[in-house]
Amino acid sequence: MAKQLGMVIDAGLCIDCKGCMAACKVANEVPGDNWRNWIKSGDMDLRAQKRGRMVFQPGNCMQCDKPTCVSACPTGATYKSKSDGVVVIDRGLCIGCGQCIKACPYGARYRNDKLKVADKCDFCASRRAVGLEPACVSTCPTKARVFGDLNDPANPAGKLMAANKAKATQVVNAQSNTDPNLYYLGEAGLKSWPVKAQMPGAFEFWKNLADPAVKVVVGLSGLGVLAMLGKQLMLKNDAPPPEEHGEEGGHE
Ligand code: SF4
Ligand code: SF4
Repeated sequence: MAKQLGMVIDAGLCIDCKGCMAACKVANEVPGDNWRNWIKSGDMDLRAQKRGRMVFQPGNCMQCDKPTCVSACPTGATYKSKSDGVVVIDRGLCIGCGQCIKACPYGARYRNDKLKVADKCDFCASRRAVGLEPACVSTCPTKARVFGDLNDPANPAGKLMAANKAKATQVVNAQSNTDPNLYYLGEAGLKSWPVKAQMPGAFEFWKNLADPAVKVVVGLSGLGVLAMLGKQLMLKNDAPPPEEHGEEGGHE
């Protein structure tokens, strides 16, 4: 089976220390008020009334199997890597139009105002390149986040998946089920927060332009020129970023 990097998360272990959020921000030089990961929590008052235990749900880009961000991207800058299943952004092709940001049901993307491109979690690509785990995983004091190839039972995440496939939970919006590769064990906590993906109006046209077959006809250099032109326009009209789904770290 093809390699698919993902996370298996035991929300019951999370103590909401937010060490993962801080570690990610530093490791990836995430600017300003932007965050690549988050901790969701339920209604504390309701929990207190029911004398229930609070469940904290860690998350980040879910490296989906059916990523709406990829479908929404007009230039093909956002794509799912064939080698490890991570959804990545080619910054050279990104025109900063923000369509992918609105198309993500999880609010996992933001506009990097410094670089003028879309940005998000890539499971710490630069750390993985030198054999390290994502910063959030290394930092977590309770080991709530387990990372690896979900299809390989020889690694910790794959082993957990193999043992818990039937019980593991995906957190999805029923109208925009992107088939995420973050799975939750035990009580996952909040499940109703993902929103319906907002796809761009001229979506089919752009999607066809980004289709590999069309890329061959137009040529990658043509797409590069398109990206450059678009970027110039975006820089000129440096509009504020599209509204993001808000919480601590852009999510709640
Ligand atoms: S979580 Fe959002 S940004 Fe990440 S792959 Fe899925 S749709 Fe794309
Ligand atoms: S570092 Fe671990 S325990 Fe702390 S908030 Fe993140 S997931 Fe939860």
